[in-house]
Amino acid sequence: MSRFLIERFRALTEYVPGGQPQDRKYVKLNTNESAYPPSPRVIESVNAESMQALRLYSDPQSTRLKAALAEAYGTSPDMVFVSNGSDEALGFFFAAFCGEGTPVCCPAISYGFYPVFAQFYGVEYRPIPMEPDLSVDPRRFCEAKGNIVIANPNAPTGIALSVQDVETILKSDPDRLVCVDEAYVDFGAETVLPLLSSYENLVVVRTYSKSRSMAGARLGFAFASPEVTADLEKIKYSTNPYNVNRLTQAAGEAALLDSGYYADCCKKIAADREFTAAELGKLGGEMTDSVANFIFVRFPGYEGGRLYRELKSRGILVRHFSDPRISDYLRITVGTREECETLINALADILGGKR
Ligand code: PMP
Repeated sequence: MSRFLIERFRALTEYVPGGQPQDRKYVKLNTNESAYPPSPRVIESVNAESMQALRLYSDPQSTRLKAALAEAYGTSPDMVFVSNGSDEALGFFFAAFCGEGTPVCCPAISYGFYPVFAQFYGVEYRPIPMEPDLSVDPRRFCEAKGNIVIANPNAPTGIALSVQDVETILKSDPDRLVCVDEAYVDFGAETVLPLLSSYENLVVVRTYSKSRSMAGARLGFAFASPEVTADLEKIKYSTNPYNVNRLTQAAGEAALLDSGYYADCCKKIAADREFTAAELGKLGGEMTDSVANFIFVRFPGYEGGRLYRELKSRGILVRHFSDPRISDYLRITVGTREECETLINALADILGGKR
């Protein structure tokens, strides 16, 4: 820390993203990227012409992409906000709507960026206790005061709430916003997007980083009422108007033309999740009921950090969290079938099991 850093940020504990190691090639199952490349149409969208056009700024309104998103998701362009990864949309949600007496309530075990945003924007953070099986009881959110940010499916547990549960939360107080972060919804949960037409206090955040295989392009979006998206635009225009670059806008549009390709990828990932979960179960693994593209597993008698290090030394990278409530667990991204096999064999070896 330099002596120049202003007081407000001195105590800030920043978010630590999962590693993107450059030292060697790993079987990389640590940051929930897709196991599959973007669709061929996306790859074609990056060409000499699109490179030439980088001379010009991107469209700050992402007009074409918004229109395509609105059509694909059955809404109107003024209900779409486009961001530089969904982290940006989430950050803008905190900036625009939380603080000044409005706290934010999140599941006590959830995406680690939420408390960081709260701290950064000076928002009172209220963790809502989990149930013993690490699920979320919607009644606790109904009773809580303040805005709500909830990942559905939750991360790192992968457990999803039903649409009815989210609707109950929305109804519990129409004067507070409920932001549903659907980063992992395409792998087996149900979207709450159909509720948008009935609830003006709903914000749905999505990302291209997982099911659309574009983590490196940084594209996310939020669906909400036109008034709420206008507020998000206000934050964007006050910080970074050209937040989504040209190549990413074009790639985003191209991805929407190939929804069948992505549906197939998601289907494969869901099938490999079930396969891997069954195999880890045979090795003594205890898992949450994940419907995301990752598995959250512990092996009683084995410390999570040790398993993490043993896997890493075998060239397999998974995610381990030091939070004592979940430090026995590993969060393992579902890779290709071959990567899943490699992981299972390595764990069998470490645990001394047969396979
Ligand atoms: N929400 C959740 C629950 C996540 O796990 C992630 C990935 N780290 C994000 C949002 C952010 O993803 P991105 O910024 O790549 O869209």
